Amino acid sequence: PAAIFKIPRAPPDKILGLTERFNQDCHPRKCNLTVGIYKDNWGQVTTFPSVARAQNILDENVELNTDLSYLPITGCPEFQANVLSFLFRESCPQGSLYLDQNRVSFVQTLSGTGALAVTSKLLSLFVSKTVWVPDPSWANHTNVFQNNGFKDIKYYTYFKNGQLDVSQWLDDLKSSYSDNLYNPQCIVLHACCHNPTGVDPRREQWIEILDTIHDLKLIPIIDMAYQGLESGNIYEDAYLLRMSLDSSRYQWPNGLFLCQSFAKNMGLYGERVGSLSVVTPPDPELKLNVDSQLKKVVRGLYSSPPGYGSRVANLVLSTPQLKKQWFADVEHMAARLRHVKSEMYDRLGWQSLRDSSLQHGMFYYTGLTPSQVDLLRESFSIYLTQDGRLSLSGVNDSNVDYICEALQKVTT
Ligand code: PLP
Repeated sequence: PAAIFKIPRAPPDKILGLTERFNQDCHPRKCNLTVGIYKDNWGQVTTFPSVARAQNILDENVELNTDLSYLPITGCPEFQANVLSFLFRESCPQGSLYLDQNRVSFVQTLSGTGALAVTSKLLSLFVSKTVWVPDPSWANHTNVFQNNGFKDIKYYTYFKNGQLDVSQWLDDLKSSYSDNLYNPQCIVLHACCHNPTGVDPRREQWIEILDTIHDLKLIPIIDMAYQGLESGNIYEDAYLLRMSLDSSRYQWPNGLFLCQSFAKNMGLYGERVGSLSVVTPPDPELKLNVDSQLKKVVRGLYSSPPGYGSRVANLVLSTPQLKKQWFADVEHMAARLRHVKSEMYDRLGWQSLRDSSLQHGMFYYTGLTPSQVDLLRESFSIYLTQDGRLSLSGVNDSNVDYICEALQKVTT
């Protein structure tokens, strides 16, 4: 047979494949609790008020709205300036130093996934083909790094026997020490709202983790997809970035990568708005090299990013009233997610639902076994990801009783 027949069947995407099955399910009470999309109490994916206002402003501005030409390879310059200042001055005052020293290379990316793809492509071409990913993690991490040249994906213990296990995590990293300054390995860190567990290290644990990563000269890749969904306060949730960029403690001789997304915290999922910032060591030539290679990588992957969503995000970030509204929108979303948990706690009495400081963000990690997840789907048409992750925003006043009764039944 011709070579094209060597293409084997790929397994369906772990999360999106379930939605396909859900769409075919005819059960009248079916619930899709798989994907991380925020829905309101009426089960709708609504546009954030701040974003809707920005869209109205764009609609009225014929010049902006009818510009369908290409953006530059690295994105819209105003977006770049506003996002950099949002991330590296407002969210993380420690970041100003790096901006002032012109040490941050920036690309507007196709949301968080695009930032991870550009990161992995650049690193695998020139710096490293080995990355540590938490076990468990968002399944697409492995996929993105493998697809972009990483040969060695290692997994560090993150969650074991129902809890975060920092000491095993650090032992895993130390056990495979190599000369990381010249032959470095990378490590993916979830900035907050770890997906899928919702469990994040406490601040003092992060210090220990960052100290170890720094000693081992690993390259941090901070994946910040849920800024604002942990505390409800957008700035507050950038704590890992603030801690990592404390220049009196850490130098990051092989740089630091920040992959950031506006998908969840602006509800711009399908518009693909996000960014990659590379904090480089202090060397102007190196910064120019990184800038130029980022451009080359993007040009070869997708040429340039889409325009509309970044205009919306840019307006929200640069208009004080809209920005204020955006902060309120995110706070509202986080409050609803907390409310859903407490409603579920009232019905189930499960401790992990009781205290919202135990698990953060959009998901509740139920601890259900794969066979219990199957039973929930087959007997009740309630869809969770196979690892027992439940998307809280799919729970609302009209289905919370049904969902909790079903959870009770499959676990007893
Ligand atoms: N990283 C993590 C941990 C995620 O959960 C997600 C989305 O679910 C992403 C990155 C990227 O999302 P997007 O590409 O939509 O910004």
